[in-house]
Amino acid sequence: MYIDTHAHFDLCIEDGDITEEDLLVEMEESGTAFGVQISIDVKGLRWSYDFAKKHRDRGIRFSLGIHPSSRATEIDLESLAALTEEVMVAGDIDLFFGIGETGLDYYRMHQPAAMQQRSFEFQIGLAQHHGVPVIVHSREAMDDTVAILKRLKPGKGIMHCFSGDSTAAAGILDLGMYISFAGNLTYKNAHELHDAAKYVPLDRMLLETDAPFLTPVPFRGKKNRPHYVSHTYKFLAQLRGEKLSSIEDAVYRNFLAVSGAK
Ligand SMILES: [Zn+2]
Repeated sequence: MYIDTHAHFDLCIEDGDITEEDLLVEMEESGTAFGVQISIDVKGLRWSYDFAKKHRDRGIRFSLGIHPSSRATEIDLESLAALTEEVMVAGDIDLFFGIGETGLDYYRMHQPAAMQQRSFEFQIGLAQHHGVPVIVHSREAMDDTVAILKRLKPGKGIMHCFSGDSTAAAGILDLGMYISFAGNLTYKNAHELHDAAKYVPLDRMLLETDAPFLTPVPFRGKKNRPHYVSHTYKFLAQLRGEKLSSIEDAVYRNFLAVSGAK
């Protein structure tokens, strides 16, 4: 059984070449039992929650958060906090994977660094308050990201789409966080990432697609889909010389351990 712990179903659907129903059917046919819809901006928060409620029995779970490339005014952050409160009061913790994705993106710099940092710190606090993991995005900003995490100590966290080497992975593990690998793990020349994926212990690892981005081999070049996560599982099993079922079991256990979603 496969799990895609990080996908943007809304972006896949907005692209216009696949329907919501077809995404779910593809998951079912491939044995992908869970898919986590990751929120990236204020306008998508309510959609993510509704999407998970609607497809509760088809394995859809969700996060609430504001991506570092999305605007995050104080009003936006308050709306995020209000909806998170609503989810908890409604008792929907079993659908709720965590707060994010949040973090720092100095590569695109769509928002000023100060706004990104304020938003990241706010969301770490929100995750702590509710005892759920924070889902972290970091691009060309690892030093600042780690400094904030070290200072605020979220407790539970996931470094999503990890793309560093084994030394960087060690730093993330030291923070007590899980490390999630995406489709770029399957790229032939990603040698440092391969080393990191061999280094990270199985009980601290998650797998994801980040669909519609970062499509794994052999579909690289096409738009990514949640059910392609199976290719990353198979690649990782081969890379580590482990049985596919061991990887499946480990990711499932970690998925249940990291958050209240089940
Ligand atoms: Zn993402």
